[in-house]
Amino acid sequence: MLKVYNTLTRKKEEFKSINEKKVGLYVCGPTVYGYPHLGHAKSYISFDIIHRYLKYLGYCVKYVQNITDVGHLVGDVDEGEDKIERQAKIEQTDPVAIAYNYENIYFECMDKLNIERPTISCRATGHILEIIEAIKMLIEKDYAYVTNEGNVYFRVKKYKNYGQLSRRNIEENLSGERIEIKNDKENPDDFALWKHAEKNHIMKWPSPWGIGYPGWHIECSVMSKKYLGETFDIHGGGMDNIFPHHECEIAQSESLNGKSFVNYFVHNNLVTVNGQKMGKSLGNFITLPDLFKEYSPKVIRFYILLTHYRRPTDFDKEKLNEAIKNYEKIEKTYYKIKKVTVGVENKNKYDDVKNLKNQFIEAMNDDFNTALAISYIYEAIKLANSELNNSEKDIYKLKYLESFIEESAINILGLELEEQENKKDEELLNFILDLRSELRNNKNYELSDKIRDELTKLGYEVNDRKTDKNL
Ligand SMILES: [Zn+2]
Repeated sequence: MLKVYNTLTRKKEEFKSINEKKVGLYVCGPTVYGYPHLGHAKSYISFDIIHRYLKYLGYCVKYVQNITDVGHLVGDVDEGEDKIERQAKIEQTDPVAIAYNYENIYFECMDKLNIERPTISCRATGHILEIIEAIKMLIEKDYAYVTNEGNVYFRVKKYKNYGQLSRRNIEENLSGERIEIKNDKENPDDFALWKHAEKNHIMKWPSPWGIGYPGWHIECSVMSKKYLGETFDIHGGGMDNIFPHHECEIAQSESLNGKSFVNYFVHNNLVTVNGQKMGKSLGNFITLPDLFKEYSPKVIRFYILLTHYRRPTDFDKEKLNEAIKNYEKIEKTYYKIKKVTVGVENKNKYDDVKNLKNQFIEAMNDDFNTALAISYIYEAIKLANSELNNSEKDIYKLKYLESFIEESAINILGLELEEQENKKDEELLNFILDLRSELRNNKNYELSDKIRDELTKLGYEVNDRKTDKNL
C-alpha cells in the first residue's frame, strides 16, 4: 500500500486515485530565464521518481508540467520586473529568445539526469485566451476586481479557506501590524491575476481590461484544469512554492470551479551547499551545466536519491565522492553478474533476495523513501559479490539478484548503469577532444584538423560549434 505525505493535512496518507489505475500529476515547471541549478535537479528528480513509481505500480500517469515564460516577477511578488524581460535586457535580446533558449537548456539538463519527460509540457504564453476567460469568470463571481490602473486582483478575503495549505492566518497578518497599502489593491494580501503592461513591455496581450500580461499563479490553475480537470490527484513543487504560489492556485481554482482542487499536495525540500542555503547572492549557486563539467549527471541523480525528497540535500564534495565510489561498485557488480548469467533462467526462489525485494518496495511505498530503498540495493550488491567470489557460484541466485537490480535501480530509480570499459573509452575520447580544442585555441589547425579527420574515419562526427565537446 502506497503512502504519500500530503502537505494539506501534514500527514502520510494512503494513496487513492480518483479514477482506478489512472493518476493526474501536475508539477510546477521552471521559469525559463536562466540556467537550471541543483535545486531544479532535486525537484524534478523527486517527481520523476514519483512518476516512475506510480507507473511501476500499474497506474497510467498523465504528468503535466508547465513552462513559465511570462508573468513571474522578480521576488515572486506583484511588483517589480518580469524575470524573463529583465534577463532579455541583460543579454540584449528578445524575451521570447530568452524563454526559448533556457527552455531548451532546461530539457537538455533534465534529459542528462535521465528524467523522463512529462506527458504534457505546456507554456503559459500558449494559454493566454484560457487565462483571460478564467479571470473574467472570477470577476463575475466577485472573487476578483479590476482597478483604475488596469490591474486585476484576486480578492483574498472572499475566499474563506485562504491559508489552508501554508497554515497562514491572514486575519492575524492584517490585525496587529497593518501594512500600508502603496498600490491599487483593496487589501495587501490580494494577488495579481492580470497586470497592466507599460509601453516598453514586450510580452503583452489585449484583454477586456486593457493591454497586459497574466500574473504568475493563474497559469497553473488554468493549465491544470485544461489537461487534468477541475479536481486531480497530485500537485507537486518545491517547498518554496507552498506560499504564495500554491496557496493562490488553490484559491483561484476552488473559487472558479466550486470544487476541491487537489487531493494530495507533495513538496520536495531544497538544496544546501555545505550546510548553507544555496543562493545567487551567497555566491554558492551551482548551475547544472557547470556541475556537469565536473561530475557525471548519473552520479548527481544517485546522490540526490540518497536523501529523502522531503529532507534537504546537502551538496558536499566529500559525500559526493563517496557516492561515486558506491555507484561504481553497483555498476561493476551488475556487469560482473551479467557476464555469468547469459541465458540463465530466472527462478525467483531465494528467500534472502525476495526479502530484499520486499523491503525495497516497502521503502518506496513509504512516501517514496529512496534513501532507505538504496540501502537494499547495497545489500544485494554485497550478496552478489560474495556469490561471485564463491568457487561454486549459484548462477540462479545471481540471475535473481540481477533482475532485482534491474527492477529497482534501473527501472524504478532510473539509474543508468554503465560498463566501466565503455566509460574509459568515453573519458579517452573527451581527453582527445579537449586536447584538440586547445590546439584550435592556439590556432594549430593543421593538427586539430588531422585529429578531426581521424575521428571521422573512426565513425565519430566532430562538431565545432560552441564547446567542441559535442560529438
Ligand atoms: Zn504552479
